[in-house]
Amino acid sequence: MSEKAIYDLHTHSNLSDGSLSPAGLIELARENGVTHLAITDHDTVAAYDKLPPDPDITLLAGIELSCLWQGRSIHIVGLNINLESDVIKTAVNQQAQARHKRAEMIAAKLSKAGIKNTLEQALCIAGEASIGRPHFAQCLVDMGIVNNKEKAFRKYLGAGKPGDIKQQWPDLETVLAWIKGAGGTGVIAHPLKYRMTRSKLMMLVEEFKHFGGSAIEVCSGFQDKPSTSSLARLCRETGLMASTGSDFHHPQQKWALPGKQSALPQDCRPVWECWQ
Ligand code: AMP
Ligand code: MN
Ligand code: MN
Ligand code: MN
Repeated sequence: MSEKAIYDLHTHSNLSDGSLSPAGLIELARENGVTHLAITDHDTVAAYDKLPPDPDITLLAGIELSCLWQGRSIHIVGLNINLESDVIKTAVNQQAQARHKRAEMIAAKLSKAGIKNTLEQALCIAGEASIGRPHFAQCLVDMGIVNNKEKAFRKYLGAGKPGDIKQQWPDLETVLAWIKGAGGTGVIAHPLKYRMTRSKLMMLVEEFKHFGGSAIEVCSGFQDKPSTSSLARLCRETGLMASTGSDFHHPQQKWALPGKQSALPQDCRPVWECWQ
């Protein structure tokens, strides 16, 4: 009898803001019964250079791209992309530059708020990972400014705070052109995290479709049933396919372990059907 397929199409390794190496992430996913995994680090595909020789799981090349839409930072997951394509190479180079520039801007803002010299330390914490706000959050904890990363986001880095810098991200059309140019499938990541009204979300979905996007993450990490039903309805209304992912970052975050997000509702068309 063939084993049941369990997909997790949104996870992070330590090449962005997760804590496990790609090999460690694959191992944990496999232990949790995941059969099909996408590592979708923020704006990088470097994890795919560091895979174990025999991953023992079906891997789908992925990425989580940051873009700017109507003044908001929106995440678009690209799945089943061709890692050899020049388009994805251009995309990750451009995003790395944007992240570096943004890190300088975040450090300047923190400096203005009286917290000096964070850039070097944040870059050091990031190491070879794609630099982001979580590395600044760790830096603020290490400096003793706050006692945990959540507080760092609440006071300095989260929405509306000095370190919430997003204006250097490309637009929605650009990131979808990258994903499609690399032969991939575009997915709106965690649609409810943006706290948009239904009509605003509908507007995003329509533009996303217009630029060639294919799916919505109907199941994302820990999510209550009404939220999942509401996103499944959005799929039905717009004809988009459904994706699913834990948005795993750290093993301590027990509510978002690989493969543990709820199953896609029956009436959704799973995104992987378009690859078969
Ligand atoms: P960035 O890509 O640099 O904008 O960082 C975004 C990442 O920061 C998200 O993917 C989360 O992993 C993390 N994050 C966002 N908000 C919070 C928060 N309030 N507390 C802890 N981590 C957060
Ligand atoms: Mn993250
Ligand atoms: Mn995200
Ligand atoms: Mn994510």
